[in-house]
Amino acid sequence: VQEKLDLLKENTHNTVNSLLDKIALELAVKVDAKIANGEEIGLLEGIPFGIKDVYMVQGTYTTASSDLLKNYKSAYTATAIQKLLDAGAIPLVKENCDSFGHGSSSENTIFGAVKNALNTELVAGGSSGGSAVNVAKDYTVFSIGGDTGGSIRQPAGYNHIYGLKPTYGRISRYGLMAYASSTDCVGPLAKSIEDIRILLNVMSGKDIKDQTTITSTEIKEDSILNNGKVKTIGYFKNFVNNTSIDPKIKADFLATLEKIKEQGITIKELDFFDSDTLVSTYYTLAMAETASNLSRLDGTNYGNRIEGDNLKDTYAITRSENFSEESKRRIVGGNQVLSQGFSDEIYLKALALRDQISDNFDKDFKEVDIILSPVTPNTPPKIGDSLKDPLAMYLSDAYTVGFSLGQLPTLTVPQGTSTGLQITAAKNQEQTLLKFANFLK
Ligand code: GLN
Repeated sequence: VQEKLDLLKENTHNTVNSLLDKIALELAVKVDAKIANGEEIGLLEGIPFGIKDVYMVQGTYTTASSDLLKNYKSAYTATAIQKLLDAGAIPLVKENCDSFGHGSSSENTIFGAVKNALNTELVAGGSSGGSAVNVAKDYTVFSIGGDTGGSIRQPAGYNHIYGLKPTYGRISRYGLMAYASSTDCVGPLAKSIEDIRILLNVMSGKDIKDQTTITSTEIKEDSILNNGKVKTIGYFKNFVNNTSIDPKIKADFLATLEKIKEQGITIKELDFFDSDTLVSTYYTLAMAETASNLSRLDGTNYGNRIEGDNLKDTYAITRSENFSEESKRRIVGGNQVLSQGFSDEIYLKALALRDQISDNFDKDFKEVDIILSPVTPNTPPKIGDSLKDPLAMYLSDAYTVGFSLGQLPTLTVPQGTSTGLQITAAKNQEQTLLKFANFLK
């Protein structure tokens, strides 16, 4: 634990918002004592991990990488984090990310852009960029990210590690700062499929404090080693034939399909919505939900209050000064799509499209066991480039957001030098997904 805390302290990738050294060292001493006494130890006893800075952990700063909450301390602990603590894991760090999860590069943060683990001139991806880099650099054994539209999967891909977005509701969101509540998911980033399986099991389960949680069964170790089950996989032909896909990513993806075909698995081409439709549907809903979720941050109960001449001014100044440009763009956009005169044409249309996207997946999963896709159409941009063109950044989420809207389980696995392979299964079929990931290894 001390060794990893030192690495985190010295690291120049900007992965750390705050170190939890006091908590970590106290817990480590307790684990040592337990072991010395020959007491029974928990499944994750003594394993050091990182937490994206959007999770409540009682008594720690929870800033969402924002000026607005830079002095905010959690009053309670998130359910998923509590389950890890109960299993003995030791939290080391609150990790840098895009503010409120708004972004795909971990540059939208007051703590400095997170640098990619493999090339420090490139972005780490986002929004869970600090979490991905900490795992990739072995500063933490695993990290807990949050994924609303790709924020675990994309940085996992950019830093060549595993990252799982489970089925919506499989892990409680209680204590995760809400971005877009209808697609927000808690999930692990780690270096092996086995770690992902263990962490999923520990965190899953119904929670009275999150009414959208579902029951799920434990995934046993040997149940994901038997490779017999997957017979047919599908892929979206428009993702691969898209002119904006990087040629290297396309070549790696096609080579993977070829390898799978050689194993006797049937491969089906599937039709899917185009990138513009997916990205605009996702961003319409995500902006609407975030405008609503963040309306409570006005400097009264939470936030870095800046006094104005009257209450209305106080709200306006507090929010204008403390939200980032990117977060304000989303709050303004979200309020616009929800307002009279726009909501029928834009918001309700996005809801209808979301239903169509889900229906499409239901139909696909009658024909195939798994859907494969690249994680992103592009390789990681240079630090500074995404900030110049927000629309291009939104479009880079084209391959991840559809699965979020479908509330499906989906896993990034590292793939050569590329930005990762995304494996998606039907709702609650995490077992099939992990089994297939093992088969591909
Ligand atoms: N990049 C996407 C967005 O900015 C996804 C972010 C996330 O999953 N938190 O909305």
